[in-house]
Amino acid sequence: MTDARRIVIVGGGPAGVGAALAARAQDASAEIVLISDEACEPYEKPPLSKAVLIGKAKPHDAPVAGRGGVAAHKVAFQRGTRVRAIDRAARAVVTESGERIPYDALVLASGSINRMLPMFPPGPSLYYLRTAEEALALKAHLDRSRSLLVIGGGLIGLEVAASAAELGVKTTVIEIAPRILARVCDEETSALIHRRHLAHGVDLRIGTAIATLTLLADGRRAVTTKAGDTFAADLIVVGTGVAPDDALAKAAGLAVQDGILVDEHCHTSDPAIFAAGDCTRIPGPNGPVRLENWRHAQEHGAIAGRNAAGGEAAYNTAPSFWSEQYDMYIQGVGWPGAQPSARISRQIGPNAMMLFDLDGARLACAMGINAQRDIAAARRLIERRVPVDIADLTDPAKPLAAMLKAKV
Ligand SMILES: Cc1cc2nc3c(=O)[nH]c(=O)nc-3n(C[C@H](O)[C@H](O)[C@H](O)COP(=O)(O)OP(=O)(O)OC[C@H]3O[C@@H](n4cnc5c(N)ncnc54)[C@H](O)[C@@H]3O)c2cc1C
Repeated sequence: MTDARRIVIVGGGPAGVGAALAARAQDASAEIVLISDEACEPYEKPPLSKAVLIGKAKPHDAPVAGRGGVAAHKVAFQRGTRVRAIDRAARAVVTESGERIPYDALVLASGSINRMLPMFPPGPSLYYLRTAEEALALKAHLDRSRSLLVIGGGLIGLEVAASAAELGVKTTVIEIAPRILARVCDEETSALIHRRHLAHGVDLRIGTAIATLTLLADGRRAVTTKAGDTFAADLIVVGTGVAPDDALAKAAGLAVQDGILVDEHCHTSDPAIFAAGDCTRIPGPNGPVRLENWRHAQEHGAIAGRNAAGGEAAYNTAPSFWSEQYDMYIQGVGWPGAQPSARISRQIGPNAMMLFDLDGARLACAMGINAQRDIAAARRLIERRVPVDIADLTDPAKPLAAMLKAKV
């Protein structure tokens, strides 16, 4: 028997691994158990829709916990194990096989699950994309296909479309909203990305609702739109967003509202249970918000892990995301959801631009295409709440980093 504090973490994504590593750094003697229902070492998801599909990387090239894996950090890694329930009274999780694993502190990092469209059940030549296994199956099919239909013009759908276009697969994207990326970015950025897809030969159908899906005799799929158009393709990928995987928390009676509710310390409504990453709804300046981004999950997980190991850290990072499509490195930083007091654009070059949303004299959030250095500076301007000058923001000759130096 040991007196060490036992921290159990459910979920082997970036939030779970971030929690495990931070808990280890906070408490060298803690017993840390990471439980993942996937049978492999935690891997990076972002390449699945990009480098993996175009054949430039394999899903397990970049283990989240580094080359030595999770175990190299003195973390007991229970892979291929699904947690079925939380016994809060006894402070134990119960696995599918009935094993009870007691905890002193529990971190829920169960991530999110794809939103399935009832008209599009996964099956032969119909894919959703979340895991390495799904990416490999999709890649194998794409490599022997000539045409692809993507349902949903969000980040994942467009990344898959860009990868397929780069492979020479004739690609059509169907989006029900009047523009692509409506949940992700402003009209100007969305229009620029739209044009890049058209330039690469992708047929983008916005404002288009689907009426029927058919499996053709030759194995291809066809959809008919409500406007009466028909699109047939060798395969379909559905990318219509994700939902938080908060079922365990809900069944255990924790406060859940389309995501596990946490405070800035990643506390749930049970003081012994923390939560982080895609499965949570976190406090933001404009009210509780859900974020579905890699870097956020990693950093949020680290706060949960530290605090589960006795720390008192608060999450006060400006959240950010990135996407890669063709030669575009698309990034966003800051808190979404606010009605900006002004919107300013900065043209950096023919393929590079930034767009800033202001909250009075301060930056609320920024979007950038091929503007990595400026986005990094924008992140610091947002986090440090540095007042900015509109003329300086508009002028690409004025480095954002200099504004930071001048005004902090
Ligand atoms: C194809 C793809 C591309 C992406 N590209 C980008 C990108 O370019 N940039 C970006 O910022 N973000 C990107 N994302 C989003 C990013 O990957 C997620 O925001 C991030 O993975 C969330 O991390 P998480 O740890 O919260 O959850 P997840 O990564 O979803 O991990 C949760 C893990 O917990 C496991 N689990 C769930 N329930 C249980 C249980 N009961 N017992 C045991 N294990 C359980 C799940 O199987 C999963 O392995 C992408 C996502 C996908 C799918």
